[in-house]
Amino acid sequence: MQTFSCRCGNPLFFENTHCISCESEVGWCPACTNIVALEPLSGGGYRCTHTSCGTTLMKCHNYAVENVCNRMVIMDEGHADTLCDCCRYNEVIPDLDISGHRERWAALEAAKRRLFHTLNLLKLPHGTEGDAIRVPLSFSFMADALPDQGLWRSTASQEKVYTGHANGHITINVKETDDVERERLRVDMNESHRTLIGHFRHEVGHYYWDLLVKEQDEGKCCQVFGDHNNPTYAEALEQYYQQGAPADWPTRFISAYATMHPWEDFAETFAFYLDMVAVLDTALHMGLSRAKHDGTLDGMLLAFHQVGLAVNELNRDMGLLDLAPGVIAPAVRDKLAYLHTLIQNANASPQA
Ligand SMILES: [Zn+2]
Ligand SMILES: [Zn+2]
Ligand SMILES: [Zn+2]
Ligand SMILES: [Zn+2]
Repeated sequence: MQTFSCRCGNPLFFENTHCISCESEVGWCPACTNIVALEPLSGGGYRCTHTSCGTTLMKCHNYAVENVCNRMVIMDEGHADTLCDCCRYNEVIPDLDISGHRERWAALEAAKRRLFHTLNLLKLPHGTEGDAIRVPLSFSFMADALPDQGLWRSTASQEKVYTGHANGHITINVKETDDVERERLRVDMNESHRTLIGHFRHEVGHYYWDLLVKEQDEGKCCQVFGDHNNPTYAEALEQYYQQGAPADWPTRFISAYATMHPWEDFAETFAFYLDMVAVLDTALHMGLSRAKHDGTLDGMLLAFHQVGLAVNELNRDMGLLDLAPGVIAPAVRDKLAYLHTLIQNANASPQA
């Protein structure tokens, strides 16, 4: 991620809604793709103050009314309750009558905006119902049924919400925004790191399997990730929860969970690829010369390794977890090479 600049010269960040220096309201302008200071117009709406943009904008409904977004919509293309290019993917939002859910929703939206930023950086196709895309993408953010005055609410059909993906629909359990819960699960599941944005990157990996691989490139994908029909997903899940990952998983997989089934391997490896792209993008914008690469996979891996060394040491200075794995096994590199080509081909011929 890059940083942006207010009209007063103060730096602005991707999540900002105000400039702390000149107190201007700020938002994401879809016309010039920047976080910009907003100039209120007398007839309603705002003008983008970015040099040579000046587009007339209005706030996304979830910015103006709900306070969980910071994106703008181009005035001519919208009306008063328009959702921005990220919020329009929502199918279910958390129940806002429950205390704390608005803050959790805001955290989910912030992670989702970063996800879309990386997808757009890679020019990966995506769209909602009605966008003429083969597999429309949508999101639901939901909570488990909560104890109500000591009793469990009777919601027989849906007491537990599983984070996951099915046919383009991504569900995230809002408890993933709870730091204590997420860290407990991280330790339980023996994961090197577990983050909210990581969930988005993993689940969108399943989406891109459906969009780019299913009935299109399954043969080649099977050669790299293994046959997803044998064992079936249900058999693999059962086996994984009984036996866990094989001890030698680091020689063949990006994570222990990736050993569960070829689909999980694909999603975990895809998430790692997005991690790498996001980190390299930020490192380049922050002026870290060791992040420079030639756009090939091996160039990216080398740059990510160099940046990873530096950031891991910084994290260790602060007593935090390592950001980047020390070594990428050759078998994992081959899987990343498959994804690298898949992603390049996808943006050469959009799935519209
Ligand atoms: Zn300012
Ligand atoms: Zn603009
Ligand atoms: Zn929005
Ligand atoms: Zn998964």
